[in-house]
Amino acid sequence: MNDLLGRPLRNLRLSVTDRCNLRCEYCMPEDDYVWLPREDVLHFEETSALVDVFLALGVDKIRLTGGEPLLRRDLPALVRMIAGKAGLKDLALTTNGVLLADQIDALKAAGLGRITVSLDTLHRDRFVKLTRFDQLDAVHTGIAAAQRAFGRMKIDTVVIRGVNDDELVALLEYGRAVNGEVRFIEYMDVGGASQWSPSRVVSRREILDALAARYGRIAPIDEPGSAAPAERFALADGTTFGIISSTTEPFCRTCDRSRLTADGMWYLCLYATRGVDLRGPLRRGATADALKAIIAAGWRGRDDRGAEDRVALGDRRAFVPVQDLLRKDPHLEMHTRGG
Ligand code: SAM
Repeated sequence: MNDLLGRPLRNLRLSVTDRCNLRCEYCMPEDDYVWLPREDVLHFEETSALVDVFLALGVDKIRLTGGEPLLRRDLPALVRMIAGKAGLKDLALTTNGVLLADQIDALKAAGLGRITVSLDTLHRDRFVKLTRFDQLDAVHTGIAAAQRAFGRMKIDTVVIRGVNDDELVALLEYGRAVNGEVRFIEYMDVGGASQWSPSRVVSRREILDALAARYGRIAPIDEPGSAAPAERFALADGTTFGIISSTTEPFCRTCDRSRLTADGMWYLCLYATRGVDLRGPLRRGATADALKAIIAAGWRGRDDRGAEDRVALGDRRAFVPVQDLLRKDPHLEMHTRGG
């Protein structure tokens, strides 16, 4: 099933909670947030029923995210419900790693396929400043556990000028040591990034130049037909890494991702200001066919190119600049709709 720009419905980001145990300055910089009402958060059976409908319509990749997904009680139970479903080719999890060591074996046993851990700095003082929690050791322990259980992983790093842009080489070397492919992410002006400014974005070009200065020739890895957000590259010694250039060189044309929030709102673009309510119909007893019709109609009418629209703006500022507005609608937040 394709949208108006010919993009297939394939990739679903499933946010299982809007809560997080870190307060990263580029995502959740405020002291206080409006949380999704607990009674609105989907039960696993409800999430599983929606997943069935998405799979029937062509989704074959699911990434569990949040908030911090490992804060959701008994997450392995959800993984077990989803992992074996017909048509699902890839089940991944994005986590900040703080609680990973304790849960990794249960997640693996439940059928999780892949892990991505977010890590922006190797310096303890910076980690504390960036996330407001002294948890770098826990993240390292989580990464070691992921290496033991899965052999490999991805490491997501948001690059911010003046914060961690001097750590690109160190993070790449760290990734090599733990068998983690680092993906450098351009700082995005998404909801929640209320402190975003263009001058703090380190572009794909700058990231490549900095790494070339240290490693010499960097070769792009050709992946024809790939809709993955990261462009991948290889150093001369074969080490690979990725760059996600959503801010300066967005890839809306191939974007096959949509997002389901923990309370069952479906967003067709990370920058969308309105979502499609799936919880309401589900709880009112809609049949699978009725839900299918709602999702199919939403996707067939999709023409979102949110990141490209942002580039086209002359004077670019934080996407949702008004704190009051963010406070009124938690769905606008990155931590609600997942990264
Ligand atoms: N808590 C989990 C984690 O830390 O990976 C999952 C949710 S988090 C919202 C998912 C990803 O979004 C993380 O890798 C995070 O770094 C990224 N992210 C959040 N805000 C961002 C921003 N303003 N620009 C770029 N990436 C961002």
